[in-house]
Amino acid sequence: MGKYRVEIDHNICQGFGACVELCSDFVLSDETGKSHMNDGTKNEKGETKQITELGCYEKAAKACPFKAISIINLETNEKIV
Ligand code: SF4
Repeated sequence: MGKYRVEIDHNICQGFGACVELCSDFVLSDETGKSHMNDGTKNEKGETKQITELGCYEKAAKACPFKAISIINLETNEKIV
């Protein structure tokens, strides 16, 4: 189990790719026009993934001008981004 949960809300994502430029785990899909994560799991809003290190995810989430990416600390339930 990961320490953090990353979520991309595809209702909000506009697909221009600031996150993709900052973190190689984010990929823009030609099919959906939205940002996806390698090995991400679909959820009701878009996509989610558990990670153990914040790494470049935090930078990418903070760079999204639409706030489409959230990161939650699963140990404290605190929303980091
Ligand atoms: S920066 Fe935000 S709006 Fe742009 S592709 Fe990434 S998640 Fe979508």
